[in-house]
Amino acid sequence: MIQLRPLLEVKDLKKYYPIRKGLFGRVSGQVHAVDGVSFSIGQGETLGLVGESGCGKSTAGRTVLKLIDPTSGEISWRGKRIDGLSRVSMRPFRQEIQAVFQDPYSSLNPRMRAIDIVSEPLINFQKFSRSEGRDQVAYLFEKVGLRPDQMIRFPHEFSGGQRQRLGIARALSVKPRLIMCDEPVSALDVSVQAQVINLLIDLQKEFGLSYLFVAHDLAVVRHISHRVAVMYLGRIVEIAETPELFDSPKHPYTEALLSAVPIPDPALRRTQIVLQGDVPSPINRPAGCHFHTRCPYAQERCRKEEPGARELSPGHLVTCHFPVNAK
Ligand code: SF4
Repeated sequence: MIQLRPLLEVKDLKKYYPIRKGLFGRVSGQVHAVDGVSFSIGQGETLGLVGESGCGKSTAGRTVLKLIDPTSGEISWRGKRIDGLSRVSMRPFRQEIQAVFQDPYSSLNPRMRAIDIVSEPLINFQKFSRSEGRDQVAYLFEKVGLRPDQMIRFPHEFSGGQRQRLGIARALSVKPRLIMCDEPVSALDVSVQAQVINLLIDLQKEFGLSYLFVAHDLAVVRHISHRVAVMYLGRIVEIAETPELFDSPKHPYTEALLSAVPIPDPALRRTQIVLQGDVPSPINRPAGCHFHTRCPYAQERCRKEEPGARELSPGHLVTCHFPVNAK
């Protein structure tokens, strides 16, 4: 098992959105977007956060970065609590924790040239002069596989993959320790996806970066992550090292998700587990285990009693009364 010093520690993180009704905005309920999520990320480690759309993985990632204020819970960065910090007090940490988003086009100012997009945080945080910034941007362009002569272009003059490289260069510019990648390749063609993922892996090796990698594509997550956390209805239902999770999933939801991933070998076959019904509403979640309405192994106990997280083997946590593939 990889033992890495945690850079980021998240404990019992919650993000609820109140539902207001009527003239006086009375709170009539809560959307439980993130509900008691705990994990840590070590130096040079990638934690994949996966789940169906609407499971709360992106909200969890953005809350960890304090782009969204948490409802409760602890977020510690290199041993220091940051969950209660104001936007101004967060400034020194912003340099160390950066983000790359799904749609690079909407996250890049269309009126700015590439050089200004990449050098903006560089100048803001490190007080570089414009000429020093230019050299640094040329270096970053090279690192992410862009040509320095492309620095004067506008975002619309780049392809989707190049725009994502631009977003990565911008995130890298302030020498972060951790980058939250929120579905960074899901808008790209498959061949370009592989190039961007391999670029992220190379940059991790070169700069010792850590990633919180939020995605729904399990094949992509498997390729880049050291550990994987699976989310369902705002909670982590299973977390383990990548080979163990993919070879021997213990939560019925993880098992079903993995059964749908194609195997690149025509000689091998796997029975797909088709989950019945839709994901329940995060406003009115089922009692007991929130997955019991769709779980093929549900028993009476599951309908009444909420399962807690259990460590089935070192570092392999599962939130289920009756784990599958358990000895
Ligand atoms: Fe399925 Fe019961 Fe486990 Fe929930 S606790 S995942 S319903 S077996």
